[in-house]
Amino acid sequence: MPTDTRVLLSVRDLHTTFHTDDGDVLAVDGVSFDVRRGEVFAVVGESGSGKSVTAMSILGLLPPETAEITGEGIFWKGENLLEESGERMRNVRGKEIAMIFQDPLSALNPVHTVGKQIGEMLRIHEDATRKEARAKAIELLELVGIPQARKRVDMHPHEFSGGMRQRVMIAMAIACRPDLLIADEPTTALDVTVQAQVLEVLLSIKDEIDSAIMLITHDLGVVAGMADRVMVMYAGKEVELGTVDELFYELRHPYTLGLLNSLPRIDDLGREELQPIKGSPPSLVRRPSGCAFHPRCPMARVPGICNEVIPPLRHVGGLDHRSACHFAEELKGQGLKVPEWEPTPR
Ligand code: SF4
Repeated sequence: MPTDTRVLLSVRDLHTTFHTDDGDVLAVDGVSFDVRRGEVFAVVGESGSGKSVTAMSILGLLPPETAEITGEGIFWKGENLLEESGERMRNVRGKEIAMIFQDPLSALNPVHTVGKQIGEMLRIHEDATRKEARAKAIELLELVGIPQARKRVDMHPHEFSGGMRQRVMIAMAIACRPDLLIADEPTTALDVTVQAQVLEVLLSIKDEIDSAIMLITHDLGVVAGMADRVMVMYAGKEVELGTVDELFYELRHPYTLGLLNSLPRIDDLGREELQPIKGSPPSLVRRPSGCAFHPRCPMARVPGICNEVIPPLRHVGGLDHRSACHFAEELKGQGLKVPEWEPTPR
């Protein structure tokens, strides 16, 4: 367990397996990382890479009949959540760690007003009276930038636009001032302008309550503008981890390079076409031998080490820049197509 007092969450060797009729699906395969107070820690990768399952495993939200979670531990301020009871986990969820889901329409209850839903969090976790909860709900709606909060607190989710519903979700998530906010693709369904506003709200709230954000996304543009550190996942494994600058300017994994090259960029308006990563993510039931990325990797030595030996995650530079590629060093200074725009100064 880390001794850094800023570390809130420390995940060590996390494995999440789904038992299905087709066989065991190892959705998260030995992932380890820390999230520190005050930072935005981004988790990126394509669909099915294990990002959301990692978050659901941390919060104990997966059905125990089908999902088995094992590992050294999920240490929350030193307490191993893997060993905690259902009751303790219900307390952690919402009050200490809150999650903002991708689709607010399915996460919000259509039959209750938003004020009631936000207030419910305070009544459950903070013993607030009905009157106190309503007053606090109005305050929270104002905090996330919803105009006419006094009036809108009595409205139902379908009366809000997509961007406003996402703000309501954020208001619910921060109601109990959690130390960690897990935001799972919080802006996917929003247009670019609203997306920027919602991300701005998230950042200002993080600073105001001195919390941390674990941001799950497939959008490297969002990562560049918001994150401090980034973990790249592929086929349930951590393939690269580093600061946002390391990931954009000194990347050490071909998959990270592939993600960057498939990103539309403002400086590339004249470019003919994007360069998507060829092929599709592998089956997690029958994963490729050796490095799971080898069937799609332009640098793969096959037959050879790449399809024979699983590359270990190893230190490749900086304070804690890690990569799981046998040939990580070959990516050094090879004229990578890194973005020319700067990540937003933090
Ligand atoms: Fe590509 Fe081989 Fe590195 Fe895997 S280990 S990313 S296949 S070069």
